[in-house]
Amino acid sequence: MSLFKRLFTTLRAGSISSDEWDQIRNMLIASDLGVKLVDEVIEKVKSIKPDDAVLAITTHVKGWLSSKNRKLLNSESLNTVLIVGINGTGKTTSTAKLANKLTMSGNKVLLAAADTFRAAATEQLQTWAQRISTEIVTGEINSDPASVAFSAVTKAKTENFKYLLVDTAGRLHTKQDLMDELSKVVRVISKQSPVDEILLVIDATTGQNGINQAKIFMEAVGVTGFIITKLDGSAKGGIALAIEKQTGLPIKFVGTGEQISDLDEFDPEAYIAGLFD
Ligand code: GDP
Repeated sequence: MSLFKRLFTTLRAGSISSDEWDQIRNMLIASDLGVKLVDEVIEKVKSIKPDDAVLAITTHVKGWLSSKNRKLLNSESLNTVLIVGINGTGKTTSTAKLANKLTMSGNKVLLAAADTFRAAATEQLQTWAQRISTEIVTGEINSDPASVAFSAVTKAKTENFKYLLVDTAGRLHTKQDLMDELSKVVRVISKQSPVDEILLVIDATTGQNGINQAKIFMEAVGVTGFIITKLDGSAKGGIALAIEKQTGLPIKFVGTGEQISDLDEFDPEAYIAGLFD
């Protein structure tokens, strides 16, 4: 994770040759920070005295993080959270992990399995729901995901649930189909209760590609934050910084493994400290 260690170790050792600058640049690019941000850091370092570099870069990089609220909405009435993302990113697992976290803190949580295009997705969420003793609304295979969402929000409101977590489909025939389907789910829920959060799940191991996915989803639905998964499997610490800088949206949770408890709130201070360790 120690993204900037090599840079500062080399700086401390004295003047840096152009070969060494190339190596540092390549290493930072390989950590998924993205070429533009890497060049920004290097320009900044070159413009200041080596003794001031750590403080200057820490401050500079902190400025890349989103200033938006990282806490999940927690209002007295129903809080509806849509979990969106491409298949395989860890959407269903993250939905279950979040349900578990909220249930463990004493909230009444309802799950909705609105990825009706894959039987396995519904079965997977049902298995998790059973394990964590959480109620779940499901639909027939290939039924309209918006109708599952409609039934779920109706139940959530009439039975006074505090959180409704809706797992959505991640692959349809075309990108346009997927985005239309998601917009429809949002519309149908909103008629009964506002959609408070739309969390986009991004797999940390997909690197810069994750940022492209974010931009597509952000255009289609009002994403309010990210869940970055598989951080346990990625030695490349740059992706979190790059995502926040390029989208302006906050990472709310990070997935750190396959177990139900492997979901943490994102801690920006600890993350930045880790990059400079
Ligand atoms: P979905 O298609 O987006 O719903 O993805 P799934 O929830 O089915 O997850 C796909 C795979 O990623 C599964 O094998 C999960 O156990 C795994 N997975 C999800 N989150 C994490 C994580 O934070 N770390 C690791 N190592 N694996 C994860």
